[in-house]
Amino acid sequence: MMATTHAAVGLLLAVPLAVLAPDLAAAGALAAIAGGVFPDLDLFAGVHRRTLHFPDYYWLGALPALAATVLFPSALTVAVAYFLLSAAVHSVSDAFGAGTEPRPWERTSAEAVYLHSRSRWLRPRYWVRYDGAPEDYLLTVLGMSPGLILFGPTVGRVALACLLVGGAYTLVRKRLPDLEERLL
Ligand SMILES: [Zn+2]
Repeated sequence: MMATTHAAVGLLLAVPLAVLAPDLAAAGALAAIAGGVFPDLDLFAGVHRRTLHFPDYYWLGALPALAATVLFPSALTVAVAYFLLSAAVHSVSDAFGAGTEPRPWERTSAEAVYLHSRSRWLRPRYWVRYDGAPEDYLLTVLGMSPGLILFGPTVGRVALACLLVGGAYTLVRKRLPDLEERLL
């Protein structure tokens, strides 16, 4: 799944905040978007879906952080909890997409995301066939739409940017490997 879908899933998890703690909702939503994107920064350094992806260990931070948020609700505790929760959900959900190869629709890679506690890769399930697939963008749209209206203008602008970036990526996704090979 592409980064905007992970951001959208994170944002969806922050929707209850808009009802339960409206004054903290924007902080939670922005942190959830950031935490949803964060693991994929290992595209640029380290091993993708391994260096910053922790399907197991993010929960060790996320669950105590969520408990702390209930006990001490503040913008800081909400932001930390939602960042970690979103990064945890991102890491797990990468196992439901494709492998790490440049052309994931060819299904040549058995490596979806690295499970550090077991020192092995989880295999891809292909519920979303590849990152940037039409169904992937549909998930971005469904998850990100509440962000346009529920959390105020800042989150609204970020949500709109995610919708545009995700849409553009979906349009060019299958041409990217060729382009990359020509450039390098
Ligand atoms: Zn990822």
